[in-house]
Amino acid sequence: MMAADMFKRVPVREQDPQVRAHNFEEVCLGYNQQEAMEEASRCLNCKNARCMTGCPVSIDIPAFIAQVKEGEIAEAYQIISKYSSLPAVCGRVCPQESQCEAKCVRGVKGDPVSIGKLERFVADWARENGVKPQKPETCNGRKVAVIGSGPAGLTCAGDLAKRGYDVTIFEALHDAGGVLSYGIPEFRLPKSTVVASEVNNVKELGVKIETNVVIGKATTVDELMEEEGFDAVFIGSGAGLPRFMGIPGENANGVFSANEYLTRNNLMKAFREDYDTPIIGGTKVAVVGGGNVAMDAARTALRLGADVHIVYRRSEAELPARVEEVHHAKEEGIQFHLLTNPKEILVDGNGYVTGMVCVQMELGEPDESGRRRPVEIPGSEFTLDLDTVIMALGTSPNPLISSTTKGLEVNRRRCLVADENGATTKEGVFAGGDAVTGAATVILAMGAGKTAAAAIDEYLKNR
Ligand SMILES: Cc1cc2nc3c(=O)[nH]c(=O)nc-3n(C[C@H](O)[C@H](O)[C@H](O)COP(=O)(O)OP(=O)(O)OC[C@H]3O[C@@H](n4cnc5c(N)ncnc54)[C@H](O)[C@@H]3O)c2cc1C
Ligand code: SF4
Repeated sequence: MMAADMFKRVPVREQDPQVRAHNFEEVCLGYNQQEAMEEASRCLNCKNARCMTGCPVSIDIPAFIAQVKEGEIAEAYQIISKYSSLPAVCGRVCPQESQCEAKCVRGVKGDPVSIGKLERFVADWARENGVKPQKPETCNGRKVAVIGSGPAGLTCAGDLAKRGYDVTIFEALHDAGGVLSYGIPEFRLPKSTVVASEVNNVKELGVKIETNVVIGKATTVDELMEEEGFDAVFIGSGAGLPRFMGIPGENANGVFSANEYLTRNNLMKAFREDYDTPIIGGTKVAVVGGGNVAMDAARTALRLGADVHIVYRRSEAELPARVEEVHHAKEEGIQFHLLTNPKEILVDGNGYVTGMVCVQMELGEPDESGRRRPVEIPGSEFTLDLDTVIMALGTSPNPLISSTTKGLEVNRRRCLVADENGATTKEGVFAGGDAVTGAATVILAMGAGKTAAAAIDEYLKNR
């Protein structure tokens, strides 16, 4: 089957923006088999494929796409599963446009191959047809503890289980998945189907997951190793501690961190009438920030019925969110106030938000990040009338584990210090994902989990 125009990708079906602005169903509907085979036919099956150099877990992209082209979807799935335990997740949330697809040779003269949408199709097909990743054959009896069930922890645990280790994940929350469960909204990443099924695939490799266990409170890393018989520990505890601006009024009722707002909605299902979780949807909401987290909070508030404004201090070109997310947010009716910075949150006599004073900015000289520094335009202050403000300014790792573990060093950003293999400053303890890098991406966390699994295997084999 040949694509009609080899220079253009097969378009993917999406929910209409006017309809999806009022529901939590998935925005992107994905390819069907015919569309996937047609898109796969655009792949040139390159030798030394450049797309693979853009993938942090080095999936054999031409090999899986060649199987899709032939309609051998179960084969395609087994190829992807050798490299990734979360393909249905990655096919949905990876920034392919700056990774594999950015390197695809098809992109030189036209659209790159839609590698992400093909990965998603293969993983969804496998789930719907009951195809599972291959199980490990033997167990070597050695115990490894993994802290955190986000993409870093799940990947490290899955890879260790495939190598025969007896792995237990300890997760602080009541559900596994990390940001995949509590942060990224249902309309981008369905929980009960996609996330639950990929977590389940990791369990089927033999990994045990103990939820509601906060390491650093219920037990410590030292106790896991000295008293509970774990030979090594991987810390994939993420970066869940929100930052605030420190402006007047930030303590008012109606000011949320994006993490709290999203956790109430995603993990605790506040948007569903059959759940009791309280949430202030807000009627006029400002979200401060320009990353994926800001887009997710804004689009969630919109679906809860609010009029929503994004306030971001740099210009559109610097928005750190994925282009696709910004495009979707605009289509749905989110209003963008770019080159705008909040100065004060206005509060009524009862302590509730009534508005936010903002100032307009212009771009000056580049700062240490290489981006042009935003500078205030004097006298350009204006007020937005609001009842809710959501701060999406980034997060840092929670110090609970580092402060309760002997010999575990952190840097000045509170991130765990680890070498290129994930080895921390404490023997037998490895770490990866956002806990080491600060807030980053799903696939980088998975890459770190994978590298650490190999390093743990090497470390334990030599002991
Ligand atoms: C709203 C939002 C949207 C995002 N969108 C995207 C996107 O579109 N694409 C993308 O690639 N990335 C996105 N990211 C970033 C991505 O989700 C993270 O980089 C990734 O999840 C990091 O994985 P991790 O495994 O290191 O940590 P996490 O996913 O944060 O998982 C860490 C887990 O450890 C648990 N934990 C923490 N402390 C303890 C403890 N003491 N004891 C036991 N358990 C503990 C936490 O409860 C959590 O479940 C987004 C992030 C957010 C917040
Ligand atoms: S670079 Fe593009 S065309 Fe070449 S193998 Fe990868 S996806 Fe196919």
